[in-house]
Order: sequence, then C-alpha cells, then structure tokens
Amino acid sequence: MTETLYAIYGASGCGRSLMPVAREHLARTGIQADIYFIDDNLAEPTVINGHQAISYEMFKVLKSSRKSVLIAIANSKVREKLANKLDQDEIELWSVQANNTIIMDGAIIAAGAALSPFVTVTSNIQIGKCFHANLYSYVEHDCIIGDYVTFAPGVKCNGNIHIEDHAYIGTGAVIKQGTPDKPLVIGKGAVVGMGAVVTKSVPAGVTVVGNPARILEKK
Ligand code: UDP
Repeated sequence: MTETLYAIYGASGCGRSLMPVAREHLARTGIQADIYFIDDNLAEPTVINGHQAISYEMFKVLKSSRKSVLIAIANSKVREKLANKLDQDEIELWSVQANNTIIMDGAIIAAGAALSPFVTVTSNIQIGKCFHANLYSYVEHDCIIGDYVTFAPGVKCNGNIHIEDHAYIGTGAVIKQGTPDKPLVIGKGAVVGMGAVVTKSVPAGVTVVGNPARILEKK
C-alpha cells in the first residue's frame, strides 16, 4: 500500500485555481506527494497544468491505504452529492488553505474547506462542511456558517452573522453585522448577488441584489 493519495475533484476554473493552493498546503505541512485532478468529464486520462487528471472511477481503484480529496466545484449541490459519494467510498474530505490565509482563535472549520489566498477567518467562528472562501473574503467574529456555503471573491461577512446551508454569496458582497442576541441571518440556499449590501436578514431560497439589498422577484 502506498501513502495518502491527494486529489482535487473538478478540473475546471475552481479546481485549477485551487490546485496551487493545495500544492502550497502540502509543501507547508512537509508532505511530498503528487496531487491528482479528478474530473468525470474527461474523454481519457490527461495532464492539466502538470497534474494527472483522471476520472473518479480510476481514482477509486488506485491502491492506497488512505485517500484525501478536496471538492473544488463552486456549485454547492454538486459538492454535497460528491461529498456523500466520497463518504460512501470511505474517502476523506481534504481541507486546504493558502500560506497567507489567517485563522484566529476558536475558529472551528469542518472538513472539505477551501480557503483561498488572502482569506481571513477571525475568532470564535463555526463553519460547516465543504466551505469555499474565495480570494480576499473574510469571516468576522461570532459567525456561524452552515454546510456547503460558497463565498465568491471579496465577500465581507461581518460579525454575528449566521449563514445557513447552501447559501451563495457573490463577489464583493458586504453583509452588515448582527448582534449576539439578534444575528443577521442569510437563509438556507439564499443567493446574495455580486456587490450587494445586505443590511437585514435574507429569507431562505431567495436572491437579493443591490444596495440596500432587496429580493429579486422571479419574472
Ligand atoms: N464535475 C465532475 N463530476 C460531477 C460534476 C462536475 O467531475 O459529478 C466536474 C465537471 O466536469 C467540471 C467541473 O466539475 O469540469 C465543474 O466545473 P464548472 O466550470 O461547472 O464550475 P467551477 O469550476 O467554476 O466550479
């Protein structure tokens, strides 16, 4: 049996951007290992940016005592589906962070997180499975973030905010801080449009845009 095999699941934009983060993550922890791309949409095994790219079925049958996979796909429902598949196959979720990611005190981050360059997670924060925080995003004190939440680049998530499962926060959105007794809540599966300025809680499942952010009615 070989040592741990590492892979990035998804070889499109998100995966190719997170591969260098994963490489520096391994180097920082003193592990020398190749990292595969897994992608189910390849006609045949290939090489992408210097890394072997294979299908999940091929990765699954590689011999190793342990396999660790970062799901690098922005669509949170796909992340959930793939995380469940990995779990069934007893393959662990891998978390990676850039060398300049800052994590302060008492931040509990579940498995499968992708913390890109210049991300800051401050103190006393809870974050669920497969969180994606893209370039320059931050999460301020006392936030609670659910599973499969996605931050595009430059999200400003201030203190005492609760973000429920599968919410998507667009590039450069600013979310006003809540208070300990009345956190600002972004509901399950809600979408916050790019550049939105969110000043009050957002119900589950809706899309909000603009400044101040308002619900985008479906036509
Ligand atoms: N993908 C996959 N298996 C799945 C679903 C998606 O391998 O079950 C791959 C898909 O082939 C594509 C990538 O994940 O290469 C998702 O890329 P996309 O451009 O949709 O989004 P992003 O890279 O921005 O997350």
